[in-house]
Amino acid sequence: MSYPLSNQELVHTPLNGLDFRSDTVTRPGQAMRAAMATAEVGDDVFGDDPTVNALEAEVAEMLGFEAAVFAATGTQSNLLGLLTHCQRGDEYIVGQDAHTYKFEAGGAAVLGSIQPQPLDNAPDGSIPLAKIEAAIKPDDAHFARSRLLALENTIGGKVLPASYIAEAQALARRRGLALHLDGARLWNAAVAQGVSPAAIAQGFDTVSVCLSKGLGAPVGSVLLGSREAIKSARRWRKMLGGTMRQVGIIAAAGRYAIRHHIDRLAEDHANAQRLADGLSQLPGLTVTSPQTNIVFVSVEPTIAERFADHLRAHGVLITGTCNQRWVTHLDVNAESITRALNIAQKFFI
Ligand SMILES: *Cc1c(COP(=O)(O)O)cnc(C)c1O
Repeated sequence: MSYPLSNQELVHTPLNGLDFRSDTVTRPGQAMRAAMATAEVGDDVFGDDPTVNALEAEVAEMLGFEAAVFAATGTQSNLLGLLTHCQRGDEYIVGQDAHTYKFEAGGAAVLGSIQPQPLDNAPDGSIPLAKIEAAIKPDDAHFARSRLLALENTIGGKVLPASYIAEAQALARRRGLALHLDGARLWNAAVAQGVSPAAIAQGFDTVSVCLSKGLGAPVGSVLLGSREAIKSARRWRKMLGGTMRQVGIIAAAGRYAIRHHIDRLAEDHANAQRLADGLSQLPGLTVTSPQTNIVFVSVEPTIAERFADHLRAHGVLITGTCNQRWVTHLDVNAESITRALNIAQKFFI
């Protein structure tokens, strides 16, 4: 293999294995970088980039959709989905805790003139069906047009029960709503349930997946849908300035990630479980048992600040103080968990 980078240029500081802030902190390793450096590329605006075309075809096939479009981020990919379903003055029903509603800067409202109808999520991450049903507005000039139901899986690291998804889909169909899934961590849901990614994606009109979370690619998301939906999404992507040129360079990382980094998510889940088991032994910590790769820890307020300082001082990075979030990923391994637990224990000695 030859590619025009010296070894020196490829050297990067390894992570210390103790960065639990997010599964987005991973950095591409040598093999992924080699795939990027040797990717065949073309101008994707002309549809000429063979690596992008291959990635889109592979992800569409894998998730059981007719078509796919590569997007810069999950935020953009979700927005493409929402814009594809909803016109100005339409409304989408979404969880109060959903990423599209809470963490995407209000893009649907700002850029799409789409009114969100947020509803409280139940503790398992679902939106109760009765609440959805009650929120769907009659066809009346007073109301926005209820148009879309958007779910998220995993949500807060929790896998939506398959039976719930089937019922929510049946409700949406009965009431004429389209269905979008924010599947940023759909791969984790599939691995946790021991089903195919297609099984999680089934029954939605559009699905957004991230390549840059647990899968460890540096950049990229993919929106899946029918040929017609993806044609529309491509126009919105162009309008948003998201249509790129020789973007096979980064699509190659995504292709590498879907080949090599899906099955290993089971390790992240096992590491999260061991982390949760260890932390739950410590006084003053209440740990939610993880379903996938995210561990939530609530810390007694009297020690929270000092405990967080202790972790930081010893190189353990997390988010939150009283309500901590620890995320496992490609760049933490079993040994990292042991080290992190030792550091956490020291605080209490
Ligand atoms: C991270 C994330 C996104 C957005 O992805 P970005 O690439 O960060 O824009 C969307 N939905 C969920 C559930 C996420 O976790």
